[in-house]
Amino acid sequence: MQPPIDRESNKQFMGLVDFAQTLTSSGLQRERTLERSQKIFRKAALITDNRIKDVLTQLDTMSEEEREFMRPKCSDGCSHCCYQWVRSTATEVFAVSEYIRANWSPEQVGDLLVRCQSYREEFQRHPAGSMFSLACPILDGNLCPVYDVRPFICRGCNSMDVQKCAEGREDPNSGVAIPIIMPVLMSAGAVRQGIQMGLEAVGYRPTELVFALALETALTSADVADRFFSGEDVFANDVIPV
Ligand code: SF4
Ligand code: SF4
Repeated sequence: MQPPIDRESNKQFMGLVDFAQTLTSSGLQRERTLERSQKIFRKAALITDNRIKDVLTQLDTMSEEEREFMRPKCSDGCSHCCYQWVRSTATEVFAVSEYIRANWSPEQVGDLLVRCQSYREEFQRHPAGSMFSLACPILDGNLCPVYDVRPFICRGCNSMDVQKCAEGREDPNSGVAIPIIMPVLMSAGAVRQGIQMGLEAVGYRPTELVFALALETALTSADVADRFFSGEDVFANDVIPV
């Protein structure tokens, strides 16, 4: 049993897409700056987290047995899902790169850039569309050190069965079905999609990025965000391969 995806919840997903698209396009039409992008991200993240909380609150209406079955088994130190590559927008990438710039030492950033470079080499070895496990370069001791500003897909990732997540990480081609609470993932995906549509509506292309690749680009120099918001295609090498 799942919290239902009925006409009402579909309306809510569409509402999230519309909200994030308008937030992004109207914000950037007023001011094409990193600061504006950060405000957009913070607001969109808050809305996403609140929507996810609302979905999970619906579990309270279930029997104790159903609730235990449905409860997301996600916990600190559980990171099998961080071995899938993450689809993200430039807005999300800048939220993480700026957080890292503000909070990490130059040595930590340097080490991260080395891991990002290895990630890129490994990522490019796999044919487009293939399934593979590759640790997010940010992952540190099975924890996410940028948790507060993590991308939307990471916010929506969930599972009712951690063993299935482990099996999926071990062999991504095994076809194992990970039982997820779909409205949680869909809510986060709706916000990400709305931001992407908002960016495209004001002329930024392409905005669908491989998070770890784009993060490396964003961290290589302090003016990447300014160049992006001036219209330069700074993430040309970080787009999702087709
Ligand atoms: S989605 Fe799976 S691997 Fe990720 S935190 Fe939840 S249970 Fe752990
Ligand atoms: S950003 Fe954080 S939560 Fe997302 S894949 Fe990387 S380590 Fe995991």
